[in-house]
Parts: sequence; structure tokens; C-alpha cells
Amino acid sequence: MGKIVIIGGGFAGLAAAEGLAWQRHSHDVTLIDTRATSQFLPLLPDIIGHSLPPGILGYSLKTAAQRWGYNFCQAKVISVDLLRRIVITDQKEVPYDGLIIASGSETSFKACESWPQRPLILDSIDDAVRLRDLAEIDDNSHYVVCGGGYTGVELASNLNYLFKRRKSRNRVSIVEHGRNLCKALSTKQIAFIENAVRRAGIEVKVGTTVAGSDQDRLWLADGTVISQARAIWAAGVCTAQFVQSLPFSKTRQGRLEVNSCLALESGVFAAGDACGFRSGKDELRMSVQFALTQGWHAASNILRYFEGRNLLPYSPMDPGWVVPLANGRGCGNILGMEMFGRLPYVLHTLICMARSFGLANRLQLARHYGK
Ligand SMILES: Cc1cc2nc3c(=O)[nH]c(=O)nc-3n(C[C@H](O)[C@H](O)[C@H](O)COP(=O)(O)OP(=O)(O)OC[C@H]3O[C@@H](n4cnc5c(N)ncnc54)[C@H](O)[C@@H]3O)c2cc1C
Repeated sequence: MGKIVIIGGGFAGLAAAEGLAWQRHSHDVTLIDTRATSQFLPLLPDIIGHSLPPGILGYSLKTAAQRWGYNFCQAKVISVDLLRRIVITDQKEVPYDGLIIASGSETSFKACESWPQRPLILDSIDDAVRLRDLAEIDDNSHYVVCGGGYTGVELASNLNYLFKRRKSRNRVSIVEHGRNLCKALSTKQIAFIENAVRRAGIEVKVGTTVAGSDQDRLWLADGTVISQARAIWAAGVCTAQFVQSLPFSKTRQGRLEVNSCLALESGVFAAGDACGFRSGKDELRMSVQFALTQGWHAASNILRYFEGRNLLPYSPMDPGWVVPLANGRGCGNILGMEMFGRLPYVLHTLICMARSFGLANRLQLARHYGK
């Protein structure tokens, strides 16, 4: 019997645990996560804009442990000793024979290291609740979302929606250093997003960056000074510290460059945002879809590794994506079809319900969005 350790209980880690449970085996599985719950990140902006009860987005990793038959260790991984095959956490050392690294990604503060205080972020349920609580009591602040990618746009849209609903005097801006918001999208989709965001009253500043901040002011590279500012950082992600210090090659965002079978070395795999998988020339984007399928795939391959069988290559299937806005509209590409308006938003919500962990959470989501 071998010891399998999974680091991270998000989409990829939990899918790996589930995948292992489905394929009967006799190994001892331990899942390590800093948090007590697995968190459903795509709906975090709705905690702010649509009063989504935060509890619906968390799924107890202890409950999942009973269901999928793993040992749960709530601890922070500090490093991995690849020679001795030991995961070192802030609580204890956990030996492994096979390892799946699924520790996701987090906001990178590299570009704002010198600021006197850290900007707000949206990485977790706690972050979303903190932002919502602040936004509900503020009345004359200027919320500046730094970074106009998908997360920045969804966040700005939901903050603005909250302010409109509460008739508060708070304002929202997005500052993006590129020439457009969501620059990876098609020209038509970019135009849709930019029009929708501007029409909602959000100020968009492209082609500049936030250069610095003091107590309540932000200044931009183009000389603009924003007072009574609340900065929210959505301008870049990185991988966990322990991932960054592993001696494997990494992508620009610090994702681990795996081989075609998601392996890093004998018995060690990566999945989800922590995994930099190349499909042709491109690196797969960070998404729930790839995290889930990679988690399952890593589980199958780790069992094949124990059995001495050949590992199978991972082939990604991309059903598409949606950028949902708080007004119940959005745009996306689903099964190769470009979509705009209400339909992609509805599909996004349905997919989120279907993918959310646990029946109770699914039912509560259905009740919330069915209102
Ligand atoms: C606001 C927001 C909106 C998004 N919207 C969408 C969307 O609409 N569609 C989509 O496809 N994707 C979306 N994403 C991206 C998607 O959520 C991620 O790609 C997905 O969560 C990746 O899954 P994962 O399992 O790799 O990482 P995660 O789900 O982040 O899980 C990683 C886990 O590892 C744990 N961990 C991290 N470091 C350590 C450590 N040192 N020790 C122990 N445990 C650790 C964390 O606590 C966490 O539980 C969104 C992300 C955000 C933040």
C-alpha cells in the first residue's frame, strides 16, 4: 500500500480525491489544505453584487473526506523535500510515495510591493465578504479595480451593481495597462464588455497603470491622482510560495511545466492552476474545467504509476467560457459559438450550479438564482 498526498482541496485536488475514490485502490490518501473548505471561486463576485450567502460557496473538506475516503490535514504546505519524499507543513511532516500538487494560484503583489498597505483582493470567500462589508458601509469612496481581465471586470461590475442598488455615492473605475479590457477576447467581445461596463457607469482607464498609493490616494502612471480611493488588486496571479521554490521549470506565472501526462518526475504530478500544461503553442488558461479534468487525470496516472503501467497523456477538452456581468448579461464562447446577452449568463449560472460541490449547496444556489 502506497501513500498518496494531494496538496490543495480546490477543484483539481478534490477531483483527484474523487477520482481516486472511484477507482478502487488500496492506497492511503491524505489531502492537505490550509482551509477547512473547498471554495467555489467563480461565484465570489456574486457575494458582492447579488447578496449570495457566502456559506453556499464552501464545501467542508472533512465532509468530503468521509465521502471520498481520504485523511484530511488542515495545514499550510511550506516545502516539499523531493529527495526524502516528504511534504513539510506548518503542523507536521507528511511522507508520500505519490504526490499531486493542486495548490491553485493566488494574487501576485509583486507590482505593488512598495505600497504602504496591501490592496484588497478577491481570492477567497473571506476576501469577498470583507469587500462586500466595506462596500456596504462606505458612502463616498472611489473603488479602483487594478487590472481589467475577467476577474477585474466581473468584480467591478458587481461592486457597481451593489452601489446602484443601495443608491450610494461610491464610484468604480477599472485601470488596465493594456489597450483594452479582457484583451484575450475577440474584437466583438471586447466591444461588448467595454460598452456594457461604461454604460453601467464604470469609468475605464486603459493604457495606464496604478503607479503608487498612500493612505487613501492612488496615482496613475498618466499623472491622474484619485482621492478617497480603495484599491483592489486584480492584476496578476502567481503560484504558492512552496511551488515557486520547487526545482522544476515554470511558466511566467510560476505554474509547474508538466509533461504530456501531467508528471513532473516519477510519481509527482500537478493539476489545475498550479500546472502549466501546453496545448500546442499555448499554455492552458486557468479554469475550473481544466482543473477538474486534470485532477481526475492525475488520479488515474498516479494509480498507473503504482501499478507500473504506462502513464496516459492528458488531452484537454475546452467547452468554452463566459464573462458574466452583474446585470444578468455577458458574453462567451460555448462549444465554439460566440454568444452575447442573457443566454451566456444563464448558461454560466447553470454550469456553476451543476459543478458546485454537494447537493445542499446546489439546491441553495438553485433557490437563490431562481428567486
Ligand atoms: C473571482 C474569480 C472568478 C473566477 N471565475 C471563473 C469562471 O467563471 N470560470 C472558470 O473556469 N474559472 C474561473 N476562475 C478560475 C478558477 O476558479 C480556477 O482556475 C480554479 O479554482 C483552479 O482550481 P485549482 O484546484 O487549481 O485551485 P483552487 O480552486 O484555487 O484550489 C487550490 C487550493 O489549494 C490550497 N492551497 C494553496 N496553497 C496551499 C498551501 N501552501 N498549503 C496547503 N493548501 C494550499 C488553497 O487553500 C485552495 O483550497 C475564477 C477565479 C476567481 C478568483
